[in-house]
Amino acid sequence: MQKLERLQSAVPLLLEWYRVSKRTLPWRGTHDFYRIWVSEIMLQQTRVEAVKDYYLRFLQKFPTVEALASADEGEVLKAWEGLGYYSRARNLHKAAKLIREHGFPKTYEGIRALPGVGDYTAGAIASIAYELPCPAVDGNVLRILTRLLADDTNIDLSGAKEQFAVLLKQVYPKEAGEFCQALMELGALVCTPSGPPQCLVCPWRELCLARLNGEVDRYPVRAPKRARKIEEHTVLVLRYQGEYALQKREKKGLLAGLWQFPFAEGEAETYGSVLECKSAVHIFTHVEWHMTGFLIEAKEKFPQYTWETAAEIAEKYALPSAFKAFKGWLT
Ligand code: SF4
Repeated sequence: MQKLERLQSAVPLLLEWYRVSKRTLPWRGTHDFYRIWVSEIMLQQTRVEAVKDYYLRFLQKFPTVEALASADEGEVLKAWEGLGYYSRARNLHKAAKLIREHGFPKTYEGIRALPGVGDYTAGAIASIAYELPCPAVDGNVLRILTRLLADDTNIDLSGAKEQFAVLLKQVYPKEAGEFCQALMELGALVCTPSGPPQCLVCPWRELCLARLNGEVDRYPVRAPKRARKIEEHTVLVLRYQGEYALQKREKKGLLAGLWQFPFAEGEAETYGSVLECKSAVHIFTHVEWHMTGFLIEAKEKFPQYTWETAAEIAEKYALPSAFKAFKGWLT
C-alpha cells in the first residue's frame, strides 16, 4: 500500500474513534474564534490537564476579546501566573488589541500574522474555528504519522513539519476541525510520547506499519538531544519592615520583563541577617536554574529594588513559578 493510500484509509478510522473516545474539554464543541484561540495559545508547551482551570478562569476574567484588549498588561500577566512562557500572554494581549481594531482574521494567513501564532497554532485555529483544510503539525502529529507510515524522516530537521503538512493536506476531510483534534487526541491518549503506545486500542492497529513491522520503538527518528545549560543563582527574599524586595528582569531573554526576587551579586550575608536558606531547581526548555534561596532580614531598604507587602505581591505581581519554592517565605 502506498503512503498516501495508507493515510487516506487512516482518516475515517480516526474520525470514528474520536467521536466515541474524545475527552470532554472546556474548549471543545465551539466555533468561537476567541475561545479556540485562547485555548491554543495556552496549550502551546503546556499539558491539557494543567491548562483546563487557567482557561476557565481566564475566560471568566476576560470573556471577550474586547475585555482582553482593554485590560492592563499586568492584569493579563497576573491571570497567566503559573502557566509559564509569559511571552504568550503578552502576545495574546497585543493580538487582542489588533483584533479589536481590525476584527477576527478569516484566513490562515491572517491568523498566522497575529503575534504569538506560529504555523501549528494557525493551522489548528483555522481548522477548528473555520473548518479550513489547514494541517496543524506538532511533535505529537509527527510521532503518530511516522509510526503509521514507518517513515524515517528525522523529525527534528527543519522542513519535517512542512513535509507532513503537505501530505496531510491531500487527505484532509471536510470535518477539518474534528480531524485536527482527532490527530492531537490520538497522540495524547493512545500513541503517547512517553511509555509504550496502546496499540491494542488504537484505531490504526491494522494499518500502522511500525506496529505491523514490530518496530514501534524506532519511530519517530530524532536528532540526539542537546544537554541543558546549568546556571547557578543566589535568590534573595529580602524583608524590611514587613515589605519584600522585587526586581524586574531584563526586557530580553528568559522570563523577559517579569518581576522576581532579586538575584544576589556577591554574598547573601552582605544584605542583612540570614533567617533561612533552601535550594530549588527549575527546569526550562534549554536551561536549568540551580537556585539557593535566602530569607534575609535586610539591613536597609535597598533603593535599587521595589518594595511591597506579601498581600500586594500576591494581588498585583505575576511571580514566575521558577520562584515557587521561595514564595512560602512571604508572610
Ligand atoms: S498502532 Fe500503536 S504505534 Fe501505531 S499509531 Fe496506533 S498506538 Fe501508535
